[in-house]
Amino acid sequence: MSRRTLQNSRAIVTGASSGIGHALALELARAGARLVVSARRADRLAHLAQAITAHGGEVRSVVGDVTEPATREQIVDTAHSAYGGLDVLVNNAGMGAFGRFEQADAQRLRRVMEVNFFALAEMTRLALPLLKQGNQPLIVNISSVLGHRALPQCLEYCASKFAVQGLSESLRVELRPLGIDVLVVCPGTTQTEFFTQSLDAENKPDWPQHFAVTAEYVARKTVQAMQAGRREIMPFAWGKVMVWLNRLAPSLLDRYLARYA
Ligand code: NDP
Repeated sequence: MSRRTLQNSRAIVTGASSGIGHALALELARAGARLVVSARRADRLAHLAQAITAHGGEVRSVVGDVTEPATREQIVDTAHSAYGGLDVLVNNAGMGAFGRFEQADAQRLRRVMEVNFFALAEMTRLALPLLKQGNQPLIVNISSVLGHRALPQCLEYCASKFAVQGLSESLRVELRPLGIDVLVVCPGTTQTEFFTQSLDAENKPDWPQHFAVTAEYVARKTVQAMQAGRREIMPFAWGKVMVWLNRLAPSLLDRYLARYA
């Protein structure tokens, strides 16, 4: 993993209409990156584009559902036609789902896996030919603390983020000879629209929220990690505590977490 400058780099950010993706697009623009941003909400992307261009940045928007192959192709084609290539792919688009496994249907699992895992995997596959020719190329996968330790009542989400961890770990070694780095970002509770946009949001357990960090904080840490050539970060202190506790005493943690089941 190498140090890099983002000045003049060409970057895609999926899920840029709100939350972490939105903050990350602004932070990358501040660092001098030229952007392709994407999401389904056109009005939000238009606002973001205005904010970036008002500060002299360069941005193109692609409106669409990242689970659709045509949207993914349009995103990559836009980077190619607007900037002549691609250096950074940020796979950020994601969603949650809450409630017990036994009370959900197969659709909830499929939708979460489609958005959080299959779309991320196929976006990556599609971007690889351009990344191979990029400058200091980098893939940034937004995973979660819950990709390291799963919680009850959000099984589909945890499973999708464990899948992202596995994909990223394998890909990092496969891509090493090609000079393409992989950074995994594992946020914890972050103040975004994630919790209200999740499927079956009314089932969300009463987790402590007072430790939540801002999307801007996660974005700042992510850009620093990109520049420093880090392989994985967890911008959430309590997440680190939970993951360590899980390594040391997983049964104890199971017993504690049972209160949220
Ligand atoms: P938000 O709900 O604020 O943002 C999610 C973004 O993903 C939006 O821009 C949304 O855009 C986009 N998105 C969702 N589904 C699709 C889709 N099918 N097609 C295209 N875009 C889509 O949540 P966050 O910013 O919190 O989430 C960003 C990432 O961070 C996710 O991967 C999430 O799992 C991860 N994360 C978040 C945590 C948190 O506590 N907030 C904790 C750990 C990880 P639109 O609706 O316009 O399509």
